[in-house]
Amino acid sequence: AKSSGRSTYRFFEVDMDASILHRTLLEQRLRKAIADKEVKVHYQPILDMTSGRIAGFEALARWTDADFGKVPPLQFIPIAEDCGIISELTQHLLAEACSVATTWPKDLYLSFNLSPVQLQDPALPDQIQSILQASGYPPKSLVLEITETSLVKNPEAAKRILGELTETGVSIALDDFGAGHSSLSYLRDFPIQKVKIDKSFTERMLTDKQCAAIVEAILVLSKGLDIDAVAEGVEETDVHEALNSNGCHYGQGFLYAAAVTAEDAASLLDSQIDG
Ligand code: C2E
Ligand code: CA
Ligand code: CA
Ligand code: CA
Repeated sequence: AKSSGRSTYRFFEVDMDASILHRTLLEQRLRKAIADKEVKVHYQPILDMTSGRIAGFEALARWTDADFGKVPPLQFIPIAEDCGIISELTQHLLAEACSVATTWPKDLYLSFNLSPVQLQDPALPDQIQSILQASGYPPKSLVLEITETSLVKNPEAAKRILGELTETGVSIALDDFGAGHSSLSYLRDFPIQKVKIDKSFTERMLTDKQCAAIVEAILVLSKGLDIDAVAEGVEETDVHEALNSNGCHYGQGFLYAAAVTAEDAASLLDSQIDG
């Protein structure tokens, strides 16, 4: 028992060294990729559920490293946050996305994810405003997606920053709604125009009564508060039907399309005009 305990400990050590090394390498690569503007933006359509037409696109970061291959954003965004380069990454991605979005029909919107740490950065509103000005993209067509985590730590700072942002005309969406430290008072205390129903609920709403009840409650709540609801993770026609008949405004998910390149997003828009 003693020796097996020791060897388990040694394996753990080896594992840990390997993961620290991996992480250090990834961080170096990411710094370089950000500096070289190799992190790209893909665009996932958000549909108006009643008309079936594209109402906007969510910008999603994509990074392919020569050795590591495709690195998922859930892996590299936290690294960028930890090592203090998220602001640089975001500004580059937002500038890119805004310049692409200026080529879309005027009634479409661009939805863009912000990290919780950015909601503590007093420089954020000015940074976003100058990116909007440089690209000529109208602030009223930009939606910034934040999570509830962003509001928990320092609500006063977040409120100030969100206030400044909404004054310039951009709107705020509460992402992953229902999944986190959900507090209904956020919807009252912060300037929020959209809620995105977390995909863990939409995915299971037809098989799990509790998930269905939560989705329905969010839809009733958002209607009462005059906030638009966007369901994410729509993968099946039946789910689309159920959401639509419950009055959900917008839907996003693999049923419609995954995130695609700017060129493919333009083709999606073209094919829509043709029929
Ligand atoms: P999120 O903001 O909740 O983005 C939605 C995620 O769900 C995306 O994953 C999208 O590809 C995926 N998705 C879309 N439709 C479906 C579906 O029907 N089923 C399922 N199972 N998934 C679907 P992705 O692109 O891997 O991004 C993961 C997360 O990484 C995002 O979650 C967001 O939190 C973060 N992220 C991505 N890009 C950025 C960015 O530019 N900035 C920041 N701060 N975070 C980002
Ligand atoms: Ca999002
Ligand atoms: Ca989400
Ligand atoms: Ca998320």
